Amino acid sequence: MRILLLEDEPGLGRSVQEHLTMAGYQVAWARSVADATERLAGGNPDLLLLDLRLPDGSGLDLLRAMRGRGDRRPVIILTARDQITDRIAGLNAGADDYLVKPFDLAELVARTQAVARRSFGEQTLVCDDGAVSLDFPGRLALRDGQPVALTAREWALLELLARRPGSVVPREHIEETVGPTAESGGNALEVYISRIRRKLGHEVIETLRGIGYRLRP
Ligand code: CA
Repeated sequence: MRILLLEDEPGLGRSVQEHLTMAGYQVAWARSVADATERLAGGNPDLLLLDLRLPDGSGLDLLRAMRGRGDRRPVIILTARDQITDRIAGLNAGADDYLVKPFDLAELVARTQAVARRSFGEQTLVCDDGAVSLDFPGRLALRDGQPVALTAREWALLELLARRPGSVVPREHIEETVGPTAESGGNALEVYISRIRRKLGHEVIETLRGIGYRLRP
C-alpha cells in the first residue's frame, strides 16, 4: 500500500516515513499542499496522512477539495494538541481518523492499518447492479449467487479497483501495484482483465481506452 505523507516538520516527517517504511508501506513525503495535490492527482497514493497547517496552505482545504471531487481515499489527520477545532473540522470534512502530536509511532502504524482495513479490507462490494458480489476478507466471489474461483492475482487486481469503485484507476498504477508477468509480455494486464471478465461477467470492469479501468458499481 502506498501512503502519501503531507508534513512540513522535517524531524517528524522523517521519523514517520522511516517507521512506516519499516512496517512495509511505501511512503512518499510531500512538504507542501502544492506538492501533495500534484501527487494525489498522479493517482498513486492509497492513503493520506495529513498535517493541517502547512507553509503554503491548509490541509483541511486539501481534504475538502478531495472529498468535493469524489476522492474517497482514506485520510488520517495529524494535529497538534491545542487544535481541537481543527480536529473536529477534519472529521467533518471526511477524515477517517486523527492522531494528536506528539504521537507514538507504533500507534500511527496501528491506526494506519485499522483505517486501511476498514476502507479496503473488511468490505463486501456489490457490483454490476448486484449480479456480482465480492467479499474481500473472505476471498469469496459470487456471480448470480454462485461461487466463482479467482486466483490471488485476480483478487489483487480487483482489490485495487475496489478501493475506488466507480473511479478510474490508471493502468500504470495497476501495473505497478499488481506487477508484470512474464507469460504475455506487454499485454499481461489485458489478459488478467479478460480472465476476470470471463469469470464474473464482461460488465464488471469497464475499460477507458488509453486511461485505465473502472469497477462498475
Ligand atoms: Ca505543520
